[in-house]
Amino acid sequence: MYFHTKNVHFPAKEQASEVSKTKPIYQTSAFTFTDFEDMESYFSGDKSYLYTRMGNPNSDDLGRGTAELEGADMGAASASGLSAILAGVLAVAENGDHIIATEDLYGGTWSLFSAELQRFGIEVSFVNMENREDIEAAVKDNTVLLYSESITNPLLRVEDIDGLAQIASSKGIKLMIDNTFATPYLIRPHESGADIVVHSATKYIGGHSDVTAGVVTGSRELIEKARARVAMLGSNIGPMDAWLGVRGLKTLSLRMERQCRNAASLAKALERLEGIESVYYPKAASPDGNGAIVTIELADHLDIMSFSKSLGWVKVVPTLAGLETSVTYPAATSHRPLPREQREALGVTDQMIRISVGIEDERDIIEAFEQAVKRTLTNIKA
Ligand SMILES: *Cc1c(COP(=O)(O)O)cnc(C)c1O
Repeated sequence: MYFHTKNVHFPAKEQASEVSKTKPIYQTSAFTFTDFEDMESYFSGDKSYLYTRMGNPNSDDLGRGTAELEGADMGAASASGLSAILAGVLAVAENGDHIIATEDLYGGTWSLFSAELQRFGIEVSFVNMENREDIEAAVKDNTVLLYSESITNPLLRVEDIDGLAQIASSKGIKLMIDNTFATPYLIRPHESGADIVVHSATKYIGGHSDVTAGVVTGSRELIEKARARVAMLGSNIGPMDAWLGVRGLKTLSLRMERQCRNAASLAKALERLEGIESVYYPKAASPDGNGAIVTIELADHLDIMSFSKSLGWVKVVPTLAGLETSVTYPAATSHRPLPREQREALGVTDQMIRISVGIEDERDIIEAFEQAVKRTLTNIKA
């Protein structure tokens, strides 16, 4: 062989005796076959992988691992939470169909639904999901899907999934739940009758702030369709990212246990603090905890910008669910796409801060916020 040839055809050593403890990363765009007949075995269903956009062992692991925890038949991973949401929606809805979504949606989902879905000819109505009559009144002949979130952002309303499932089945429509904030550690929407569950695995499933990923779970019939959408829209996840997602998923219960406990303690401490107008923290989300997000509203006389400069080691991060405690400003990040009036009608005010509680020692977390309030108050007096 000449150099140019040898350079790409050096032998890859593959021995069955090399059994890796962790799943190898199939960092490959395609799979090889011994001959054309062998390649036919993919199309006859005897082999699972042909081309990574259409499927890869690492992305299947992320889908399967999440489906296991959600109690679903099947899961499909994709490149982001939003692409998983789109794949899940398109598994049910097509041109001419209508969807009903909660009005307090995650900002990115709101943009996807209010702008992008229109391009596919899918119409969306936004309703107050706490009001059963509003939901029922919004159902039309072409309604195919009811969409909500298990714990909403940033006011942390815990959705009545059983109630929604009842409405959905009585109207013959599907129910889809974004379970990103709760994770299957706290809430398993399929057990309450949800047909499709979706995650931004960028958040708690990944858990380490090092990957953008999404997963959608449900029945084999629906998820085969979602998986086909991921393949055809080209929103597949890369093997390395899927591998990172699985690596994160394995510590979900440990992280959630600690983060939920820390969040409960922080919420309690903040309720007693002068300068904090209100504390939002769910009360009965699940027997295992109430989530790891705490949302607070600073009193009007506290300057929000100086508060953000007084947080010490707590970072300002426009997302959530990392190992480290961080804060964000919903009015300018997750809810930025919403018109101001609509944002304020949802209760997302200019004094609101969302805290993503990490795995640190709760005493340090509480002290960081007490200090921040104290410093901000001193700034005002000075
Ligand atoms: C982050 C997030 C999304 C979007 O996920 P990406 O991974 O950023 O695409 C959807 N829903 C919720 C609740 C989220 O927090």
